[in-house]
Amino acid sequence: MSWSGWGDPARARELPEQIRTLLHDLLGVRAPAVPAAALEAVRVPPVALPGPLVEALAGVAGAEHVLTTHEARVRHTRGKSTPDLLRMRAGDGSDAPDAVVLPGSHEEVAELLRLCSAERIAVVPFGGGTSVVGGLAAARAGFAGVVALDLARLDRLRSVDTESMVAEFEPGVRAAEAERLLAEHGLTLGHFPQSFEYATLGGFAAARSSGQASAGYGRFDDMVMGLTLATPAGTLDVGRAPRSAAGPDLRQLVLGSEGAFGVITSLRLRVRRAPAERRYEGWRFASFAAGSAAVRALAQEGLMPAVLRLSDETETMVGLAEPDAIGSGGSGCLLIAGHEGAAESGRRQAVSAVLARLGGEPLGAGPGEAWERGRFSAPYLRDSLLAAGATVETLETAGFWANLPRLYDAVRLALLGALGSPLVMCHVSHAYETGASLYFTVVTPQDDDPVAQWERAKTEVNAAIVEAGGTITHHHGVGRDHRDAYAAELGPVGVSVLDAVKSRLDPAGILNPGVLVPPVEPA
Ligand SMILES: Cc1cc2nc3c(=O)[nH]c(=O)nc-3n(C[C@H](O)[C@H](O)[C@H](O)COP(=O)(O)OP(=O)(O)OC[C@H]3O[C@@H](n4cnc5c(N)ncnc54)[C@H](O)[C@@H]3O)c2cc1C
Repeated sequence: MSWSGWGDPARARELPEQIRTLLHDLLGVRAPAVPAAALEAVRVPPVALPGPLVEALAGVAGAEHVLTTHEARVRHTRGKSTPDLLRMRAGDGSDAPDAVVLPGSHEEVAELLRLCSAERIAVVPFGGGTSVVGGLAAARAGFAGVVALDLARLDRLRSVDTESMVAEFEPGVRAAEAERLLAEHGLTLGHFPQSFEYATLGGFAAARSSGQASAGYGRFDDMVMGLTLATPAGTLDVGRAPRSAAGPDLRQLVLGSEGAFGVITSLRLRVRRAPAERRYEGWRFASFAAGSAAVRALAQEGLMPAVLRLSDETETMVGLAEPDAIGSGGSGCLLIAGHEGAAESGRRQAVSAVLARLGGEPLGAGPGEAWERGRFSAPYLRDSLLAAGATVETLETAGFWANLPRLYDAVRLALLGALGSPLVMCHVSHAYETGASLYFTVVTPQDDDPVAQWERAKTEVNAAIVEAGGTITHHHGVGRDHRDAYAAELGPVGVSVLDAVKSRLDPAGILNPGVLVPPVEPA
């Protein structure tokens, strides 16, 4: 993984000259004056952890699994939001952990949490490092140091129960590897977020992820049948049946807890038979409103394909739904319907009938196949745009159908108000009977301080989402970036419930301080 951008550096994409010209002429984008820093030049604070504490960590995980090198610290600094990348490109490694620790078992995680609680060392659970909400930057104040707890060594598929269709995984398995391991059994998880190649199963559970095929397979939290959480107060193991009436479902307390309540060390996940075939098709609608009505009809008539994605007029025009064909999009609004499994032909016909009835024009397999080819490549484009002087960032929300147009307008207006005349694109890619998510992509010229420029815009948008009655996040999570808006969404009683859980499971407040809930004040 690139330390200051996305993915495999060998797959980095040069920006075509016509897009560079378009950015300059249309948005006024100019190349940044200072080129990106080299890894060796990133400024990290001196290691704050005293030597004996580093040795104590090594005593638990093994000396070879405790890293304090400059490179290891830089590679575990923050996540992959655009402000994260901009800071790294500027050589700002001020949030670097003092050490990276790679535990090899649940027992080692539990022992490390006991040690760190006793010595007041902050612990940041680290999966794939793809957080886009500031979920990996711990508040340091009052701690002897900060440790990134990298779960990469917990990377096994432990068991597969093909009768119940449940597979048990360790948390550090990346999604792509999970699919490879399951394919050996003819199975799939069906979780394909855009971060698929790098994000981990533990990270999906911790941040309540949702993948591109959520219409057919559900969100990640729908897939979690059970899990194990190591906490400073002991081990929590929940989920012994698919559903239960035994009190509140504590699985839901762990899902979305973002490393603030404990470290997920095992996951029992629902799996499905791998589909024999996949067929992705394009449809065109006259407007976003007409396309949204068709998506709603499918959701409410129980006719969801595996993938259902509707781009608004601007996203369709730019061609973002087909990243390999940027700049060659058409008019109206593009809808992608992805069908999976041999038995899907009946459903495919029923879906097509609804889409045609509601004004959709079939475009055949071409746009669907282009979307499938480019589905994981857009993040590479972000790196090229950042280097060219454009800020490009995404944000998301969700709401009930009746409120969705208001939410859409509120977010767009907030972005236009904060950034002048940015390019704002949107799509619906997670839909339910009662509502849907809205996913925005914004492109704007960088000013002299692009991080502060984006943070101002983000503050405006967060306020607009709360005001317009949407949720602050549909699948990116809370982290630090959404913490205040999340508190506004929950209200004071809700926040006090989270505080109570946190202080019971993590009395010393060492777990991911500042993420999800405000950090515990140092004594
Ligand atoms: C280019 C790009 C595309 C993305 N596309 C999508 C998308 O389509 N859908 C989507 O839902 N998200 C998407 N994301 C966001 C991100 O991939 C998800 O939030 C994902 O769930 C994070 O997984 P991770 O393994 O990288 O976790 P990390 O980023 O390492 O961690 C995320 C949070 O979970 C905590 N955590 C991690 N592992 C554990 C554990 N085992 N126990 C307890 N806490 C833990 C961390 O401390 C942190 O707070 C995208 C991000 C990027 C950069």
